[in-house]
Amino acid sequence: MSNSQKLNGQKVIIIMGPPGAGKGTQAELLADKFDLYYFETSKILEEKFREIKKNDFIEVEGKKYLLKDEKKLWEKGNLCSPPFVTYLVKEKIKELFKEGKDLILSGSPRTLYEGKGIIPLLKKLYKAKNIKIILLDVSAEETIFRNSHRRICELMRHPILYSKETVKLKRCPLDGSRLVKRGKLDKPETIKVRLKEYKERTFPLIEYFKKELLKVKKINGSHSPAIVFENILKALR
Ligand SMILES: [Zn+2]
Repeated sequence: MSNSQKLNGQKVIIIMGPPGAGKGTQAELLADKFDLYYFETSKILEEKFREIKKNDFIEVEGKKYLLKDEKKLWEKGNLCSPPFVTYLVKEKIKELFKEGKDLILSGSPRTLYEGKGIIPLLKKLYKAKNIKIILLDVSAEETIFRNSHRRICELMRHPILYSKETVKLKRCPLDGSRLVKRGKLDKPETIKVRLKEYKERTFPLIEYFKKELLKVKKINGSHSPAIVFENILKALR
């Protein structure tokens, strides 16, 4: 038995914030509480890349994107072409809307290009008043500290953010596997690059959301996950 609650009408929650703000943790908590579909762009890409034939492509605005080329980018850790990603994301959103699903997005949209592609679609399907945007606000120092102290579990790569409660943990609370550091992605130099990308490519989306008359609620993300969650619930009421 799930004790999840239903929100009134079909809803979309979008969680924004810098790397290490705890977006994934909050998205999972919210998905659970309100029975939302946790929309992860990386999973959609993984699905798409699972079985590809030699010259499979997707055509967007007259340009062909070969799946094998996009897969290569993805495997090297680069971002796939924004038109390609946006196309796939929009297709998936349409499918989920038809199934009557409520959505929670974290880490997407990531660029203004992607936002300008998917926000009009979300507004058309779900209506502006049903789209809630939460901005988790965390300072750059804290982001660097948290990311460089973040661990993941060996088995499922569950992220364990650094906090007073988690510092003593040796094993994953969800599956019991060992907790390890994430390596290159969480090196201070890499985090600085990711922060710069966030500031320059992702943060401008907030202004765009406001221009589109969507409500953005800023939440202090520096508290413990439980307190941040409480504050998000208040903001959603
Ligand atoms: Zn785990």
